[in-house]
Amino acid sequence: MLKISHEVVRPGRTYGDAEVSIPIPEELATVPGIPANQREVDWYAREYPLETMNITERASRDWANSLRDQHVEMREIRKEHDKLNTNLIMATRQSADIEPTVEPTGEDISQGIKDKARELGFLEVGITASDAHYEYQSKRGFNKYQHAVCLAYEQDFEPTQTIPSVDAEIVHSSTYRTQAAAALELANWIRSNGYHSQVIHSSDATGPIIALFVKAGLGQLGACGYLLTPHAGNRQRLLMVSTDANVTYDKPVDYGIHAFCQVCQVCVNRCPGRALMRDKIWWRGIEKNKLYFKRCRPVMARYLGCGICMKVCPVQKYGLKNTMEHYAATGQVLGKGTHDLEGYELEGKGYFGPGELPVFESDFFSSMPHGNVDEWAFDRFKAKAKSGGGKITDDMLDELKEEVNRSLGLTGDVLAMMAEDQDYI
Ligand code: SF4
Ligand code: SF4
Repeated sequence: MLKISHEVVRPGRTYGDAEVSIPIPEELATVPGIPANQREVDWYAREYPLETMNITERASRDWANSLRDQHVEMREIRKEHDKLNTNLIMATRQSADIEPTVEPTGEDISQGIKDKARELGFLEVGITASDAHYEYQSKRGFNKYQHAVCLAYEQDFEPTQTIPSVDAEIVHSSTYRTQAAAALELANWIRSNGYHSQVIHSSDATGPIIALFVKAGLGQLGACGYLLTPHAGNRQRLLMVSTDANVTYDKPVDYGIHAFCQVCQVCVNRCPGRALMRDKIWWRGIEKNKLYFKRCRPVMARYLGCGICMKVCPVQKYGLKNTMEHYAATGQVLGKGTHDLEGYELEGKGYFGPGELPVFESDFFSSMPHGNVDEWAFDRFKAKAKSGGGKITDDMLDELKEEVNRSLGLTGDVLAMMAEDQDYI
């Protein structure tokens, strides 16, 4: 039995459940939250502000959507989701300007917010400061209030275990919609206590909000690039409600995940795109496993959003308490090496058990467009000119003009399509 460093006590899975206590072995203890060098975080935020990949990598986004639309079922699912989601997005965009319905009493309403959020079905809720270090340049000023209520809504267990699949894609989209509707109700409750509140829909995410969830003590960043929380691991969707209410901030917690991922490595070993980094690096002032975007999106685009790194995570499947207790007792990662945890099927490619990975053609990764729409259009223009011996035709110029015009008019479209990228940081 390994020596225990500390016990983390968290609320139970559903509202009203008893608290759970999670033992963290001494060899997995690092720091609360994530190792960070605040001076570097400040410097990068000032000199190299973050920007959403829906702008910086828009060309591959369009390409991925066009591939997904070739899948008849997925095309219909996406259409249905867009139809249902639009009103929710519109409602959340108006939420910042709605006035409170009473005068505030001045009381701290942190516990009230948490109780209401749990009653509405949220799995995790924590409060921290809104933080411009983790805002996209294009979203500066979008969030109107200084406090961030961080909310995680659990995605159903069963369909998630079938990843990558149409069923998993359906539950993924519906979880985004359910949490948006619940957040609008939470915002109403905050207003009924005398304060403003703004629901920031995941389609309007102002930045890589996982950073705020870690600060609010709801979990730690996994090697897969998702937030890992105690009950559902990475199987949840995230959303933020900002407010000017009188609240108290939560503190980051050491769940042992930062070190455990280096022992576990299941997602790293099972990723079909070899897109996850085995070792941690320092990136923008934070120590983390960095995702290779260019090796992930080609797989996501062709295999139903992929998400295998979510499915194979033991914390997702068994919960952190079971995972840590098993590790403390045996020194082993629960489920590692089993078909149940590690196996998956890729449509048209077959089943891959522990130790087996698919092999892709050489242009599988290199054929993906890169950069924003302008960059990609200009790259293709130059390639055509080069292959034509330097000759530039009117057709080539017209095509370039069309692409540039399209990129100039795309702001609203970009904002409406951000949901699925919220988990990258
Ligand atoms: S989504 Fe798929 S390709 Fe991307 S990191 Fe996860 S397992 Fe790898
Ligand atoms: S699969 Fe293992 S390494 Fe990957 S995020 Fe989950 S716990 Fe961390």
